Amino acid sequence: MKNKDTIILNIPEAPCVSIHITGLVQGVGFRPFVYRMAMKHGVKGSVDNRTDGVFILVENFHGISDFVHDIQINAPQASEIHDISVEGVFTHQQFHDFSIIKSIDASDAITEVSPDIAVCDDCLQDMKQQKHRIAYPFINCTNCGPRFTIIKALPYDREQTTMNEFRMCDTCRSEYADVADRRFHAQPVACNNCGPKYAMHHDGNIIHNHAEILKRATDVLLDGKILAIKGMGGYFIACNALDDSAVNRLRRKKNRDAKPFAVMFRDLTHVKNFVELSAPEEELLCSWRRPIVLLKQWNPLAASVNYNLDKLGVMLPYMPFHYKLFDSSDLEALVMTSGNISDEPIIIDDVLALKTLSSIADAVITYNREIYMRCDDSVAFVSHGATQLIRRSRGYVPAQIHTHFEVDGILATGAELKNTFCLGKSHTAILSQHIGDLKNAETLDFYEESIERFAKLFRCQPTTIVSDLHPDYLSTKYAHESGLNHIQVQHHHAHIASCMAENNINEKVIGVSLDGVGYGTDDAVWGGEFMVCDYTSFERHSHFDYVPMPGGDKASKEPWRMAFAYLYHYLGDDFLKLDIPFVHQLDMAKTKLLMQAITSKMNTPMTSSCGRLFDAVAALCGICMHQGYEAQAAMQFESLIQEDCTESYGFHSGEIVSFEQTIQDILHDIQQQVPLGIIAARFHNTLVNAIAATVKTIHQQTDIHLVALSGGCFQNKYLLEQTVKLLSDKQFKVLIHKKVPANDGGIALGQLAIASHLR
Ligand code: ZN
Ligand code: ZN
Ligand code: FE
Repeated sequence: MKNKDTIILNIPEAPCVSIHITGLVQGVGFRPFVYRMAMKHGVKGSVDNRTDGVFILVENFHGISDFVHDIQINAPQASEIHDISVEGVFTHQQFHDFSIIKSIDASDAITEVSPDIAVCDDCLQDMKQQKHRIAYPFINCTNCGPRFTIIKALPYDREQTTMNEFRMCDTCRSEYADVADRRFHAQPVACNNCGPKYAMHHDGNIIHNHAEILKRATDVLLDGKILAIKGMGGYFIACNALDDSAVNRLRRKKNRDAKPFAVMFRDLTHVKNFVELSAPEEELLCSWRRPIVLLKQWNPLAASVNYNLDKLGVMLPYMPFHYKLFDSSDLEALVMTSGNISDEPIIIDDVLALKTLSSIADAVITYNREIYMRCDDSVAFVSHGATQLIRRSRGYVPAQIHTHFEVDGILATGAELKNTFCLGKSHTAILSQHIGDLKNAETLDFYEESIERFAKLFRCQPTTIVSDLHPDYLSTKYAHESGLNHIQVQHHHAHIASCMAENNINEKVIGVSLDGVGYGTDDAVWGGEFMVCDYTSFERHSHFDYVPMPGGDKASKEPWRMAFAYLYHYLGDDFLKLDIPFVHQLDMAKTKLLMQAITSKMNTPMTSSCGRLFDAVAALCGICMHQGYEAQAAMQFESLIQEDCTESYGFHSGEIVSFEQTIQDILHDIQQQVPLGIIAARFHNTLVNAIAATVKTIHQQTDIHLVALSGGCFQNKYLLEQTVKLLSDKQFKVLIHKKVPANDGGIALGQLAIASHLR
């Protein structure tokens, strides 16, 4: 439940009453809040943190239901009450006042760990006026500050965090102990006299003076140079987002060709100068979670920030240091990218950062508090007013997802790229932060370490393990080697189950699962799937037509191969006579080799992938022949859509959904030199129509009217919105993701749900 919908409770007639609140209630200022409510209502008793939630014991009195009601509706912003239970206590206990008592490590039952919370406005104000915290860059209070990234064990107390190395000074301690203070029991409380400090490594010097650090940092950035900065969940690399040569230099040094960078703006006014911002987008951007939000750009920054894309990843400052950095200069916007080398995890270790990032950055800014849990920035966009997560990490993890079925003791190992794993405890699913591509050795280490840390933190030793069906996924191998009871789940079934689970659905649905690649039960590469399924099984009703995928994985990186494959598949040799730029630029030697590979099926699996269809069409249109990052072709193609165009191409829907006619129509448009924006719109509209037609046929056969959409292709905002609209117009009830990503970053939740029903 959300804080604003209240649970109706019967207050028992007993001398004392215990109130047990579960949900996200620790590390979010809940106990001091309860204390203030107790003062307001004149309640006598106590409150304490336990591993399974917050426990309040009070003397029964006339206005107690108002007290409980007040707690529900006014709970702190980052809290989330899942349940409240009230019981009578018949042994009479005499209380003289209301007090907060020391945490009791009560049981193994779950409690929630708060995600990290962006610095609050009150703390930003305190930085200007509180004597011991003037400009203090680690200021925090019960309403804000690091949480998940510094917690080592529960319950959430200072000794169990990486703040335990810092002894509170007398002033901080008195605030920590003062129930009337905003820092009452704020575990990371600190000040200029006693807390963590920044240090800067620059030009062979180590600078400790904070003002000097800020001056040098802004000089470095304004000079077109690169800065590495230790953030909340890892190191980041920054440069001036309005300086094209600085951004290009960063690209060269980081060996990153084309993948768009996210940008941190100094404030909302500057955001609005560069991107369009709807009310829900503004709300998400400014929320305490502070994700990167993808927004439509209307004014250019440096072109190299996000080549050829109409959207920009935007965020606002979330650490006090970010604010200070902008305050001390007139910098408008900074590229902020993860401090790592290519596919490795974001760096959290200070020694490694100095060693590795010094080769990229002209200066490194670090601080002396350990980051325990690595955590990247989250990435989201808004569709029809609702948040769609692309990467679920800082600000979201490890908030739990409540399930209507028992998932205790299950570990879901996720997919391979964009991996996250999921741990089940009682009726809650705990999805990990973004782990990354497991094929990278360092990422695999991070994966294994994080699984251990989650199991320890949430006190959950898995007894059942569930993985993808793909035999070569390292997550599948991990599951095999665990020696636990091992269940394997088909990739696209897991996608749909994930969407069902977060929507609390427990009936058969028509699942539409569109993505790049997933292992099929017939050894083909699936990715354009229509299935009827529940949590125990699926029936594949329809799928996109199989086409060859010459070169296997290579075809995913080189869209021209898919354009070639589609043309050869549908037109045979004749396609070489086409008078279009795509054919003209083909290298004859390569053409022969590719034809041979396709005919002899050499390293050429068949695929029904929707992602590869996007690649083929984008390459055919000359938009992207080689991808510098995943889904580049599809993202650039989406950027081109001329939104007022409602026309579409032909297609065939049935057990096999064929785009042969679509390809013919596109070839015709290319020959007629129809603008790419129109072709992009017509193609997207065709896909939407094909989905709706196929869903309708399945509905006629099964009478199911519930449709779940999942898979990475639904991160395409146009495709998602138009599909939801058309299916809703046709009276279908459409389920989409809201809490976990539609891409492989959400798949572990689906695996967990299926394993729970199969074991
Ligand atoms: Zn604060
Ligand atoms: Zn202090
Ligand atoms: Fe997938």
